[in-house]
Amino acid sequence: AKKAGRNNFSEYESCLEKDMLSKITMYEEIKNAIQEEQFELYYQPKHSVKDENIVGAEALIRWQHPEKGFISPGEFIPLAEDTDLIIPLGNWVIRKAFRQYKEWNTISPIDFHLSINISPKQFIDDNFIPFLLRSVEEFSVSPEKIDLEITESLAIENTELTLEKINQLKKIGFKITMDDFGTGYTSLTYLSKFPLDRIKIDQSFIRDITSNKNHAAIVQSLVSVAKNLDIKVTAEGVETKEQLLYLQEWDCDEIQGYYYSKPIPSISFGEYHLENMKI
Ligand code: C2E
Ligand code: CA
Ligand code: CA
Ligand code: CA
Repeated sequence: AKKAGRNNFSEYESCLEKDMLSKITMYEEIKNAIQEEQFELYYQPKHSVKDENIVGAEALIRWQHPEKGFISPGEFIPLAEDTDLIIPLGNWVIRKAFRQYKEWNTISPIDFHLSINISPKQFIDDNFIPFLLRSVEEFSVSPEKIDLEITESLAIENTELTLEKINQLKKIGFKITMDDFGTGYTSLTYLSKFPLDRIKIDQSFIRDITSNKNHAAIVQSLVSVAKNLDIKVTAEGVETKEQLLYLQEWDCDEIQGYYYSKPIPSISFGEYHLENMKI
């Protein structure tokens, strides 16, 4: 037993080492990838529940590594958050998304908002708001069309600072969405505490609304509480017509998910979606 224990320990040790090595490598690679423009933004349309028109698009980062191929943001975003790399990476996302929005708008005036994911570290950074201001100026996008998606963990860990930043951003005109809503612990309190424009109900609730009565009840009441507070509700991860019908009945505002489209490259978004939009 003793021997096995020691073996396990060294296995554990070498696992740690490997883990650390791959993290250090990844750190260097992310840094390099920003310079080499290996990142790309994909866009996923958001549709109005009422008439199914496109009302928005969420920008989602993609990394095409020259040797390793596709690396999921679920893998490298947390690492970028642990290090300060999320700042240059997040700034890259903002400029790239604004530039794209401006381009679409120049081809034909568009009437949808653009959602951008903002990580906690990025959001509370002192340079974040000044950077946003410079960027809206540079690409002449109007802040009212930009929806910043933040997470509950940000709000829970930095309540006062987050509130202060949200107020500043809203004064400028930006819209604020609480993403992955329902996965934290203090969700409902936060609805009245923060001046949010939208909540996005996490896909883990949406996935089984048609079979899980508890999740159905949760989603239905979240929609109604949010409505009473004048907060819009987006459901994400909608994959079937059946889910859509439930959300329609509950009067949810917007939905996003594979039912309409996966996140797609900007060129396809321009071709397929902008053409089909009612303007
Ligand atoms: P998120 O913000 O919650 O994004 C939603 C995720 O669900 C995306 O995964 C999207 O592709 C996926 N999704 C959308 N519709 C469906 C559906 O119908 N079914 C299923 N099963 N999945 C669906 P993705 O693109 O892999 O992004 C994962 C996470 O990485 C995001 O979660 C977000 O937290 C983070 N992320 C992505 N891009 C950025 C970024 O530019 N900045 C920051 N800070 N984080 C990002
Ligand atoms: Ca999001
Ligand atoms: Ca989400
Ligand atoms: Ca998520």
